[in-house]
Amino acid sequence: MTLLDRAIVRLLPAIPKPVVKLFSSPYIAGATLEDAVRVVRRLNAEGKLATIDVLGEEITREEGARAIAAAYCHVFEAIEAEGLDSNASVKPTALGLELSYDLCRENLESLLREAARNDNFVRIDMEDSSTTSDTLRLYRELRESGRANVGVVLQAYLRRTLDDIRALADMRPNVRLCKGIYVEPPSIAFTDYDAVRANFVRCLDALLEADAYVGIATHDEWLIGQALERVAGLDHEAYEFQMLLGVREQRASELVADGHRLRVYVPYGEQWYEYSLRRLQENPALAGTVAKATVGRVLGRT
Ligand SMILES: Cc1cc2nc3c(=O)[nH]c(=O)nc-3n(C[C@H](O)[C@H](O)[C@H](O)COP(=O)(O)OP(=O)(O)OC[C@H]3O[C@@H](n4cnc5c(N)ncnc54)[C@H](O)[C@@H]3O)c2cc1C
Repeated sequence: MTLLDRAIVRLLPAIPKPVVKLFSSPYIAGATLEDAVRVVRRLNAEGKLATIDVLGEEITREEGARAIAAAYCHVFEAIEAEGLDSNASVKPTALGLELSYDLCRENLESLLREAARNDNFVRIDMEDSSTTSDTLRLYRELRESGRANVGVVLQAYLRRTLDDIRALADMRPNVRLCKGIYVEPPSIAFTDYDAVRANFVRCLDALLEADAYVGIATHDEWLIGQALERVAGLDHEAYEFQMLLGVREQRASELVADGHRLRVYVPYGEQWYEYSLRRLQENPALAGTVAKATVGRVLGRT
């Protein structure tokens, strides 16, 4: 990342929303469920699986959380009706975790019931570190209550993650392993790029050792290489690779061509802004383009 790109990343929240929307469009299926269905149909035709995310997070009103839970019910109905190969991913704060643990759990349980009715699966996304313990508690409680169609996410940048894997190992967890995107202090998170990579590999080893089903969620070629070495010889049903919509699609197709399961994260909805900022932040090349477009707007050139 160049110095200019770093500066742009810091300035992203000040960029006009229409510019953010324009440049984040590859990462988002669209505003409606029909948009998500169209994208998943295309991905399925390319041999890729999907996970649909209804955009929205840090919901602060109960009706808002219930509305998102209801939207997920429509997602499962659409997946079933359209014969799509997709599950769903959901953020705990979208289901009301910031309001109350019990409300979030209740919403999550209704989602899981709906998913089970359609023989489907829900992945609980992992948000910032203020939610980690509650999210893992939700996962454990739901599994212990007999729900099998649920998985969770662990972030390799958190220093606690190896311990969390050991704590979950008894239940053969279903885990998406990613680096982690939120800004966390060095006291609890590795902040050095190579340290995060090294911990990703340690966590992946620990998950495979625990016989977990692992979603290997990364676009980092070095990590993909490390993962390929580790899954060689495993049944292809025992793990999957995961990528975000709009990122490294060609590499995703190559993994599919080599016989690996590959799932694409497909977000849709009206509340696109926070998700878009995170994606732009991770694409330094795009941050530079955003800068030029913004300067162009300011100078009246676009
Ligand atoms: C399916 C999936 C689900 C995720 N769920 C969560 C979650 O629940 N919680 C969480 O904290 N994080 C989640 N993440 C995000 C993750 O934590 C990382 O922030 C993100 O994947 C970037 O890390 P990377 O491993 O791809 O490595 P990076 O080093 O960031 O990226 C490797 C390469 O991929 C390309 N690339 C990466 N991002 C972009 C982009 N936006 N635009 C263009 N090119 C890009 C670039 O070429 C880059 O050099 C998820 C990621 C995936 C793939």
